[in-house]
Amino acid sequence: MAEEKLLGIDLGGTTAKFAILTQEGDIQQKWTIETNILDDGIHIVDDIIASIKHRLNLYQMTAEDFVGIGMGSPGVIDRKAGTVVGAYNLNWATLQPVKEKMEKALGIPFAIDNDANVAALGERWQGAGENSPDVTFITLGTGVGGGIVAEGHLLHGVVGAAGEIGHITVDPDGFMCTCGKRGCLETVASATGVVRVARKMSEEFAGDSEIKQQIDDGEDISSKDIFDAAQEGDHFALLVVDKVCYYLGLATGNIGNMLNPSDIVIGGGVSAAGEFLLERVQKYFEQFSFTQVRESTHLKLAQLGNDAGVIGAASLALQFLGGK
Ligand SMILES: [Zn+2]
Repeated sequence: MAEEKLLGIDLGGTTAKFAILTQEGDIQQKWTIETNILDDGIHIVDDIIASIKHRLNLYQMTAEDFVGIGMGSPGVIDRKAGTVVGAYNLNWATLQPVKEKMEKALGIPFAIDNDANVAALGERWQGAGENSPDVTFITLGTGVGGGIVAEGHLLHGVVGAAGEIGHITVDPDGFMCTCGKRGCLETVASATGVVRVARKMSEEFAGDSEIKQQIDDGEDISSKDIFDAAQEGDHFALLVVDKVCYYLGLATGNIGNMLNPSDIVIGGGVSAAGEFLLERVQKYFEQFSFTQVRESTHLKLAQLGNDAGVIGAASLALQFLGGK
């Protein structure tokens, strides 16, 4: 029989992504289904089970062909019990016994962790982290998420709140965050955060700028519009990007001072600005980190894009190796 495979699932509010991987982390099959969050999300796990059964049938595979299944999910995860609660973008307000349902229906060992954590595992294993034992991952998307791998272990903390990099305070007098606290990194470096910074700064900017004009005219602008304008030399947009990079440099500098990882990997939609973003964050990172950290901790762009989640999720199943 061929080597047993890993199955990774990246569950999100609009889609669930699936991948079948080798134990070395190579993706062999990949597919996506829509997430049906109706009726308090009661269809989600059943749809996932049905989709896996359908695919295994299609590929002429059985439960015996798998080491295990790993899943990344939003919400608060109890890794031992395999449950999820408070995943509001799935309409999962109450406790969901995901592991129990999956194992009963499929007969394959199942492991689950937070979605940002599994994305960190993915980038560490197959992406920019180059399988280093010390990697911190930050994702700049609709929110700001994070995951920390330290000395080979994903950090969870006492209640699973470790690695919530989005809630690092970067401006004590700053904007209110959805978490109830003020000045979180998420309020200034997520996609909406960048726009919020631009709106605030436009109140005091007197010069000529197309982006400022659009804001003053009440037009909808995106973080991408701001980064695009900055790359084209718009003076105001450059000031906004510089401010956002200052906050990111402050946060990553302090992460470096605390954890001294080999790599701090930046991913998510906002990081599509690439080197243009990275070199500006690097400048402030160097300002806010001390010598040994500055010389040994490297800022990098994520490499796996949307695949980080399924790859990292699949890696959770490696814990079942030899245990069947
Ligand atoms: Zn917060």
